[in-house]
Amino acid sequence: MGSIKDNLLRVQARINDACATASRNPGSVKLLAVSKAKPSSMVREAIDAGQSDFGENYLQDALLKISVVPDATWHYIGAIQSNKTREIATHFDWVHTVASEKIARRLNAQRGESALPLNIMLQVNVNREPDKNGVNEDDLPALVESTLQFDHLRLRGLMAIPEKSDDVKRQRANFVKLAELLSSIQRQFCLPGFDELSMGMSADLEAAVSAGATWIRIGTAIFGERH
Ligand SMILES: *Cc1c(COP(=O)(O)O)cnc(C)c1O
Repeated sequence: MGSIKDNLLRVQARINDACATASRNPGSVKLLAVSKAKPSSMVREAIDAGQSDFGENYLQDALLKISVVPDATWHYIGAIQSNKTREIATHFDWVHTVASEKIARRLNAQRGESALPLNIMLQVNVNREPDKNGVNEDDLPALVESTLQFDHLRLRGLMAIPEKSDDVKRQRANFVKLAELLSSIQRQFCLPGFDELSMGMSADLEAAVSAGATWIRIGTAIFGERH
């Protein structure tokens, strides 16, 4: 691994290549640097190299980093327990992993009147894996509808962590499925600003970009292996 700056440049080059292949504007793909389990000094190093957005899964670890690096834009991308929604609603700018009305209702209430609305994505369990977080596609329209009533949430799009596969065709098929769900929800509801697709990680960002990802979530390729 090189320096964080070199790694960010390499990831950006991969995004640019994938966009060129897919005839997409590279500006349409945003990079979320997943800093989970990494120290705030590495976040600072990435900020100094021009990175603005960071993703975290582990709340206590994240809160510490947010207090040290408040000038970043913070995204929560982990599983959400109900007793953690207050801290998530208070300290983050985006949440990618909302999968139930109950959690959406709590985040809305706890976001409060003072802050800007919380940007949220609904996590879809695209392969219907029993142990994976996320709403099944059949239940997605109802969850969209119930989430729309919440004034302190801004529904921005869909997120998925598809099953792992080394087969680029399989990877792409899962990402296309999420993209099609986004289009179908856009047709059913009038939702300005509901156009984000959070999909793709270090190992499959090319397939995600080819299927329309607007946020790719990259940890290892920027910060190195986690222990
Ligand atoms: C850890 C994690 C990532 C980053 O994965 P890498 O393979 O390290 O790039 C992306 N998204 C979610 C939800 C994660 O938990």
